[in-house]
Amino acid sequence: MPKKGHIPERTCIVCKKKLPKKELLRLCVRENQIILDKFQKEGGRGAYFCVECFPKIKNLKVRRKLFRALRAKNNVNIVL
Ligand SMILES: [Zn+2]
Repeated sequence: MPKKGHIPERTCIVCKKKLPKKELLRLCVRENQIILDKFQKEGGRGAYFCVECFPKIKNLKVRRKLFRALRAKNNVNIVL
């Protein structure tokens, strides 16, 4: 596989689909809140969602995955 024009890929934490970073939504923890990292500029651990899976964030199982991926504590709020 040629390395030219390499696009950074990330895996959706829900469906495990690999997509270019730009096509995924990045969530991260900041000041005890899980926020949507719109510009993918926040440091630290991030969790990626594809657009199809993002609405599933309301689902408890998906939330658990997210918390695990971010190593977030249970008292962290999701602020989107
Ligand atoms: Zn997905």
